[in-house]
Amino acid sequence: MLDSISRHRLYGLAAEIRAVEEGHNARVLPDGSILVKAESNPGSYRVFIRRVADGVLWFACTCRSGQYRTSLPVPCKHAALAARRLEREGLARWEDGGWRLRERAQVRGARLLLARTVQRRPAPVAAAMADAA
Ligand SMILES: [Zn+2]
Repeated sequence: MLDSISRHRLYGLAAEIRAVEEGHNARVLPDGSILVKAESNPGSYRVFIRRVADGVLWFACTCRSGQYRTSLPVPCKHAALAARRLEREGLARWEDGGWRLRERAQVRGARLLLARTVQRRPAPVAAAMADAA
């Protein structure tokens, strides 16, 4: 699905991310986006999951690279940091040049979306999610 150039860029990004990971922090926001803040400067960027294609997560970011590298699943280092956060949470794994959403995460995501359709009854939803975990 990804051509070799995209693959190569992704591997480069993965390496870059490991180098900068210490100096940044990624905070998950209530809407499921991720705020990435650089400790060395006052800027922060917001990363979103843009789409999932054949299990591969595609990210968008509010930084310049995130705006113009839309042909890449991971357009910038902020997106890679966000992906690493998903990986640490056990929701995604690095595989074959991209971050793939784990099947269990897809199931839980669908359950959560379904649960949100009956938000007036939060107690049974919480119980169902506890069973699913
Ligand atoms: Zn970015």
